[in-house]
Amino acid sequence: MMKLPDRIDEALLERLARRVTVTGEDRELLDIEAPYTGETFGTLPMGTADDVSEAARQARAAQQSWSKQSFRERARIFLRFHDLIFQRKDEILDLIQLETGKARNHAYEEIGDAAIVARYYAFNARKHLKSRKRKGIYPILTATREQHAPVGLVGFITPWNYPLTLGITDAIAALMAGNGALLKPDRQTPFTALWAVDLLYQAGLPADLLQVVVGKGSVLGQPIIESVDYLAFTGSTGTGRLLAAATGEKLIGCTMELGGKNPMVILDDANLSRAARVAVWDCFSSTGQLCVSIERILIQSTIYDEFVRLFAEETQSLKLGASFDYSADIGSLISAEQLEKVRSHVEDAVMKGAKVAAGGRPRPELGPYFYEPTILENVTEEMALFAEETFGPVVSLYRFESIDEAVEKSNSSTYGLHASIWTRDTARGRRVASGLKAGTVSINDTYRSTWGSIDAPMGGFKDSGLGRRHGATGIVKYTESQTVTVQRLLQVGPPRGMSEERFHNFLTRGIKLLRRIPGLR
Ligand code: NAD
Repeated sequence: MMKLPDRIDEALLERLARRVTVTGEDRELLDIEAPYTGETFGTLPMGTADDVSEAARQARAAQQSWSKQSFRERARIFLRFHDLIFQRKDEILDLIQLETGKARNHAYEEIGDAAIVARYYAFNARKHLKSRKRKGIYPILTATREQHAPVGLVGFITPWNYPLTLGITDAIAALMAGNGALLKPDRQTPFTALWAVDLLYQAGLPADLLQVVVGKGSVLGQPIIESVDYLAFTGSTGTGRLLAAATGEKLIGCTMELGGKNPMVILDDANLSRAARVAVWDCFSSTGQLCVSIERILIQSTIYDEFVRLFAEETQSLKLGASFDYSADIGSLISAEQLEKVRSHVEDAVMKGAKVAAGGRPRPELGPYFYEPTILENVTEEMALFAEETFGPVVSLYRFESIDEAVEKSNSSTYGLHASIWTRDTARGRRVASGLKAGTVSINDTYRSTWGSIDAPMGGFKDSGLGRRHGATGIVKYTESQTVTVQRLLQVGPPRGMSEERFHNFLTRGIKLLRRIPGLR
């Protein structure tokens, strides 16, 4: 076992391990590795289908009384959670870095995000879910209301790249809506998710309401789908397709937050030095292991050379390192598998004629999975990274002449998660944005401005997914809507003694009239 950073000790890891639902003894153990060194720092019991059933049973039992609590009572817990995150900030930053190998500045994004999502749904869940008057079939005589009931139990299958954010924020929305939750974090980063779960219990979440199972997706995925009423998945498009088909078979709702090959478009009137400085964050945050990070930069020809010079300078000035403080700009990749993916994409591109404008090498002297932030030019369709998501610190640069060409190139991907546009003319930027097939578009900033706009939906077009997180849609999806009508005086049907034919004539006149009356349409 490796030496742990100062704020993480065996006692903490043992407490977190007790949050995993396990039935029975003698379990195969899952080793959790620290990417900075490649050493194991902790173990957890590998989950089974029986654990999933037991976890679901406990969460469903706890959900019964939770669903009857008021929004105000629920909100209190999430606001306490919000405050506790900042009280325990250094501990969780250490843990995120320990498990993912990312730099501390990128780990901070996760705690900021968890806090603002908790705040947002604590204060806004009621607004999105309260029962609402709707127009009835007969004005005045039909009193119609729409109300929302929690679906029951929501399953979450989450990836390793943002283990705090993706491990807990979607569950916060589901819990605020009155559901129970069953979480399966990625097996490389379970302790961070468990930390968030533990903190929610410390903040007052009722016992058993939020369950965690840990282990292989291929073993636990199907039992989870069998046990839940809704599945929120974040991960690769390949796994997403499998799970969406399985939820379809069971006829339960799902959200699929999947991969991307996100473009940045730099127009000729952009502030180039700012764009170059900010692009570094957009491309290499979390060592490029981020669904919304930029892997393609499209640059208008007249400013291409100047932008490349500035961007390469910014990239070369980044400091790589394995430190539990803010001294490094970029951390490690998470695993040998990720390193191999990045290395093979770059080698394939270079072999087929790509030019390296910065980076392009592994850095084993810093840690086993370090790889330099890399910029490639002359990338063509035959190269694997042209269309495939690398999910690493590698970005390709392309020229364009006209805006139409930039839009066409941006949209020429099977993905459509995120895009970024740089221009001093924001009206022009908005026009370009409306031509892009991407779920979020940031103008003159990184993904942080769109992702962090929690009141607005976040998700992908095309192979980047189904459904959205955040905003009203990010909580309404965890409910069943129910329409209740109270009919007064006249039934919707012929009154006694009136023939169907006369009634239909009466109805036809009424329907035609309603088309003309503002406010009743
Ligand atoms: P992955 O699909 O391999 O794994 C994600 C989760 O699914 C893990 O918990 C894993 O254990 C589980 N899983 C794997 N196979 C499974 C199966 N057969 N049945 C059930 N569960 C299974 O993805 P990854 O490599 O961990 O994550 C990287 C991918 O996630 C990238 O494509 C990235 O773009 C995407 N991602 C998307 C978003 C988003 O919000 N759109 C956010 C983060 C990551």
